[in-house]
Amino acid sequence: MTKIIRDYPNSFNLPRRVEGLSTIAQNIWWIWNPQAQRLFQYIDPLLWNSVNHNPISFLRKVDRTRLNAAMNEPSYLEQYDQVLHDFETYMKAENTWYRKNYPKLTDQQIAYFSFEFGLHESMPFYAGGLGILSGDHLKEASDLGMPLTAVGFIYSQGYFVQHITEDGWQETRVRIMDFKEVPVISLLDENRKPLKISVDLPGRTVYARIWEMQAGRVHLFLLDTDVEENSPTDRQLTARLYSSDLEVRISQEILLGMGGARALKLLGYDPSVWHMNEGHSAFLALERIRELMKTGLSFADASAKVRLGNVFTTHTPVPAGNDMFPLWLIDKYFAQVWAELGISRDDFIALGKQTQPWGDTFVMPVLALRLSERANAVSELHSHVSQKMWNFLWPDRSEENVPIGYVTNGVHTRTWLARRMGLLFDQYLGQDWQDHLDDPAFWEGVKNIPDAELWAVRRHLKNKLVNFANERTRQTWQNGTITPSQAIAGGVFLEPYSLTIGFARRFATYKRANLMFRDFDRLMRIITNPYRPVQIIFAGKAHPADEPGKLLIQQVYRAVKDSRSGGRLIFLEDYDMNIARYMVQGVDIWMNTPRRPNEASGTSGMKAALNGALNFSILDGWWREGYNGKNGWSIGIEKDYTDTEVQDNDDSQSIYSTLEKEIIPLFYERDSQKIPVQWLAMVKESLRTLTPQFSLQRMLKEYMTDYYLPAMQGKKSEK
Ligand SMILES: *Cc1c(COP(=O)(O)O)cnc(C)c1O
Repeated sequence: MTKIIRDYPNSFNLPRRVEGLSTIAQNIWWIWNPQAQRLFQYIDPLLWNSVNHNPISFLRKVDRTRLNAAMNEPSYLEQYDQVLHDFETYMKAENTWYRKNYPKLTDQQIAYFSFEFGLHESMPFYAGGLGILSGDHLKEASDLGMPLTAVGFIYSQGYFVQHITEDGWQETRVRIMDFKEVPVISLLDENRKPLKISVDLPGRTVYARIWEMQAGRVHLFLLDTDVEENSPTDRQLTARLYSSDLEVRISQEILLGMGGARALKLLGYDPSVWHMNEGHSAFLALERIRELMKTGLSFADASAKVRLGNVFTTHTPVPAGNDMFPLWLIDKYFAQVWAELGISRDDFIALGKQTQPWGDTFVMPVLALRLSERANAVSELHSHVSQKMWNFLWPDRSEENVPIGYVTNGVHTRTWLARRMGLLFDQYLGQDWQDHLDDPAFWEGVKNIPDAELWAVRRHLKNKLVNFANERTRQTWQNGTITPSQAIAGGVFLEPYSLTIGFARRFATYKRANLMFRDFDRLMRIITNPYRPVQIIFAGKAHPADEPGKLLIQQVYRAVKDSRSGGRLIFLEDYDMNIARYMVQGVDIWMNTPRRPNEASGTSGMKAALNGALNFSILDGWWREGYNGKNGWSIGIEKDYTDTEVQDNDDSQSIYSTLEKEIIPLFYERDSQKIPVQWLAMVKESLRTLTPQFSLQRMLKEYMTDYYLPAMQGKKSEK
């Protein structure tokens, strides 16, 4: 086996007494431990914000006198010692959930592949929901002590930076990431050269080096083609996410699937479970079959064996949203591969074939479904949609017998929970609430939180959101790059007393960000009522190639700039995890308006719920399972429409009337202490029911029992 050298690039020359800050900075455990973040923030809060909460950049830039000042404070050192102790205890723990429950399976390995990982705003190699889910998956796997290892890309340009022009048009800007500012370790071979894997693409071999990130106890390996052996074009292969260029896409996917499997092998891994988060990584199955055939197995036997360990999660309920390639591209990239697999072109194509109105295509989820023993959707309703969509792969089965189950998504509680909410839980549920994240009985304790204290925290969080939007806008205003009307759109008129609604997500037409503008005058009457004003904050990016998505942003932005709203409609530019955190923690209402049943799950509403915001959403994806009639509101009813015009009309009417008749009156009804008692009762019902049910802990335990465990045991699926 190759000898691997881990090259820790960052040495910060810290004073001995606080040397451990570099240990904290190198392992992204700090992301879900607010006390660890505060070790940096405390030294210089302004620098902490300006480096985008990045401990490595922070330590490189921090002023020595400030560091010394903090070091001279006993309370700082006490905090520091506590955090280091917590970190070391965490890393060494023998009593993890996994070890306790599966003591005989500690030598098993689970490989988790995803096209994107959303871990933190300072690591912009994610685009949206899929990436955030992958990031949360890793963090929870670490917390539970699961033997999971992940593979993805470190995109040097990350996802684009969004700028909105005066007229509401989305412009994209590039930001080059400096890997020295990312907590990754360069893996080197015995000659101290970057450790590399390669894949064959038409007419050439493409190399990729491997970076390692430590996410608590879990490792994430990130591939990067920017190495000298590659042509200038190939060096850029892993520069950007979700290219619209199909050749780039197929090359990236070959690299992720086949290259990723090779990387794990090179690093000495031999996983028994291979989890493909979406179809992008499905080529890994081909690589594994090819490897197994080297031991003398036939294609049929090798693929049957490989199948047993594969788990596939689909996220895409819209047929056109699935990742697919024209057959000429498959011919170009795979002719060599099917020869090596000893199968004909037709047999190879059949592995991924789907016939579209315009001809045959090779579809990645089809490949993943054919080569995985187990597959799941990400909510119950989504599983029905998926069963229908993929029924053609099981022509002898009825729709409800298509073997696609579901594990409803969740969120990593401590990544998304406001620190102040955590302190309330410490006090009224017990210091050990983190050990009971998915235990509904434990969360009954939410009832013990006094209304006044809960309300004080909620007001604090809304204040933080308002200040954040104000300050961000102030800075761009000072830079002289925006007009007064853009400053108003950016939130200078936001204030912390009004009922505040958040709407943030990718701008895709089915998400209907413009739904509440169908009757603009009625919306204006609602939000500008001087006795009971309402503010609505929008944020989100459209994929750069999605023209209808960009038009949707423009439509929303024009409404936001309309002076009739009194500055109560806001658009926060460049949605990312930082803005998401401020929003889900600070708003009163989280709103989601997908055109049912197009939302596979959705997760942002779960983040809002655990911070004490109330959901007001279409009964689609997760909310259809979470809503119990008392813990938030539904938009519309559980109904299948054939006419989208009728559907949009019904849903928008439902928004207006529920706001007017229920939400706004409830929010503004106060007792003699000015506390909205009935509102808080609903918040508690939401916290109690939704926090455990939509925790990533619940989700990961389901993956373990229903998917990973049988895969480890090599069991056939019972479905
Ligand atoms: C949570 C999150 C998402 C996904 O939210 P959805 O509800 O699934 O749309 C997307 N982007 C960011 C930055 C997030 O934090």
